[in-house]
Amino acid sequence: MSLWRLTVHEAHQLLKRREISAVELTKAVLERISKVEDKVKAFLTITDDIALKMAEEADRRIAAGENVTPLTGIPIAIKDNMCTRGIRTTCASKILYNFIPPYDATVVAKLKEAGAVFVGKTNMDEFAMGSSTEFSGFYPTRNPWDLERVPGGSSGGSATAVAAGECLAALGSDTGGSIRQPAAFCGIVGMKPTYGRVSRYGLIAFASSLDQIGPMTRDVTDCALLLNAIAGHDPKDSTSIPQPVPDYTQALVADVKGMRIGLPREYFGEGIDPKVAEIVRKAAEQLAEHGAKIVELSLPTTEYALAAYYIIAPAEASSNLARYDGVQYGYRAPVSEDIVAMYSKTRSEGFGHEVKHRIMLGTYTLSAGYYEAYYLRAAKVRTLIRRDFERAFQQCDVLLTPTSPVPPFKLGERTDDPLLMKMSDICTIPANMAGLPAISVPCGFLDGLPIGVQFIGKVLDEMTLIRVAYTYEQISGYRNLLAEL
Ligand code: GLN
Repeated sequence: MSLWRLTVHEAHQLLKRREISAVELTKAVLERISKVEDKVKAFLTITDDIALKMAEEADRRIAAGENVTPLTGIPIAIKDNMCTRGIRTTCASKILYNFIPPYDATVVAKLKEAGAVFVGKTNMDEFAMGSSTEFSGFYPTRNPWDLERVPGGSSGGSATAVAAGECLAALGSDTGGSIRQPAAFCGIVGMKPTYGRVSRYGLIAFASSLDQIGPMTRDVTDCALLLNAIAGHDPKDSTSIPQPVPDYTQALVADVKGMRIGLPREYFGEGIDPKVAEIVRKAAEQLAEHGAKIVELSLPTTEYALAAYYIIAPAEASSNLARYDGVQYGYRAPVSEDIVAMYSKTRSEGFGHEVKHRIMLGTYTLSAGYYEAYYLRAAKVRTLIRRDFERAFQQCDVLLTPTSPVPPFKLGERTDDPLLMKMSDICTIPANMAGLPAISVPCGFLDGLPIGVQFIGKVLDEMTLIRVAYTYEQISGYRNLLAEL
């Protein structure tokens, strides 16, 4: 059997029983990478030597029966905006093309402790700004189900790597949909946990009040296992929540009897491809057949979420990206005049078009006289969105919506139309604005292209999300979908 086809939990069983070794598994994945990577371009850095060393260490741990976790010996890919000590971390930006972090992000340290094997750092939209991975400062990634199409973004490299068998699971980050939308486009599971559930320490900041790291996996069981490994309070991240972490595998129960599932009408109307809406509605009907109660409801502020997000996210980005000035790390333009010329040339040459666009937008909306008109108003809209969700959760336990309003689109189709590109996120952004957990799972195909259904939960209620997603996965049979290539 091709070992790269295994899910994390399947591989764990075989490793534990010593029917396969971590080195064998890692070699199978590295071979798969060398076979398909030219076609999909999911990685910015492949760490084969490091992977083999980590696999040897995992085999040693397993042989000694020492600290064996469900991730010991499992080949995992990491989005290139998470700091990995000694391994280049570029954020897919030319401005960080040579940055080698002197420390590990907390999630990276946790995966190391668990015994995971790192196969590489994945491609993304530069600084996670985008929805297609076409805004990578290096090259686009392709959707493994159709190489003419985008894998979604910004965690498009991670989604592709998981769906193409180039790793068993991956980490992504989600500021406005960057885990869930690519997961939907590539036929995998992607979860954005509650804001503060997973530490952001060592995640290169885009919009700090929205950014969250989460698992990208081939089934819901693997999602629970990864979340178990990365969740928890971290004193190094002041926004991380000081609450104990439940065992998320306890929620892997196929039972939704009596669960109230809310269908917000705004997510099935204007701007949503009717064929996508139909497939997603069918998922709701199937859950209803298994005892869930469907509640039609309304989230009236939904239509303002995108506009408010595109004030708040660029504002925070403009401030976070001020540090890339060519002085301490990253690219420095060769300039012989003064330091101001050096700053200016470094930033002009180092940042790509989309990033500059956001820095300008953000600087504008934060400047004197405009702050009240834009930033402050967007912050107020954000409060209204949160209240909308609170009201909805009095009527239901979980919400069900499409993850993306459209199926995976063609490369180049949206790059010249910024509004159309940003419309890709209308279903995912509201959960970030309200800090809520949300998960995307595959729910069917449209003309051979994967479609995802999103469940949005209450604050810190990842358990209900995992339960409903797992139940749906059992009903639909859509799990461990691999693009053959
Ligand atoms: N596509 C959205 C943006 O461009 C969200 C990106 C993300 O979640 N990192 O901002």
